[in-house]
Amino acid sequence: MLFKVQGIVLKAINFNDWDKILTIYTKQHGKIQAIAKGVRRPKSKNISATQVFSLSEFILYKGKNLYNLNQSETIKSYYPLRDNLEKLSYASYILELTNAGLIEEETNIKIFELLLKTLDIIVEEEKYDQITRAFELKFISYLGYRPHLINCVNCHKDLENNIRFSLINSGALCNECKSIDRYSKKLDIQTLNIMKFLLFTPYEEILNIDINKNILKNIGEIMLSFISKNLDKTNFKSLNFINSLNI
Ligand SMILES: [Zn+2]
Repeated sequence: MLFKVQGIVLKAINFNDWDKILTIYTKQHGKIQAIAKGVRRPKSKNISATQVFSLSEFILYKGKNLYNLNQSETIKSYYPLRDNLEKLSYASYILELTNAGLIEEETNIKIFELLLKTLDIIVEEEKYDQITRAFELKFISYLGYRPHLINCVNCHKDLENNIRFSLINSGALCNECKSIDRYSKKLDIQTLNIMKFLLFTPYEEILNIDINKNILKNIGEIMLSFISKNLDKTNFKSLNFINSLNI
């Protein structure tokens, strides 16, 4: 039986001579795998809609193991992401992280909308690192792993000085509680405040301020270890690439 979904292509792998296996994040059915037969033939009508980053309407039917693509139509290609290597690298990381965090066939409209909004902003704006750090914090929270930052995760007292970030406890520790996790990392109050701001504030407001690059770098390191622990994935190819660009 044919059915229609809207989704964004997170990943595409060449398969056989002319086919591709697509990982599509659909609005209606969450993340799915679909085989797009003949899509690498030069005259295929599905070439554009099955590119990575394409937001498309797909008509699918369920096969034995995978969904099969019948027809597709591009809604938005996000083509301008390819204008600039830095922009493309950050956007690729956003997709790689989304793919790593999602469980197949689990719908999450909030994350679907967050992803599209993030890509829309990366297309238009230049504060890629700032938006990417905000995406990491929002995305991991929408998946159910929100780090506890508003006060001490252990005793709930206000955080002032000598704060630590604990991966095991998923949040910030005050000076008195820091000994409960000897692997916790130092976190200054300014970095903590920026993390809260990025987590709880809409993108429009985040874009209005310029965050110090060193603070963003610190947050990036904290988030990478936090994401790695919660998603059980330590290596992000696109993130290694961003680091190799030295930006
Ligand atoms: Zn405490």
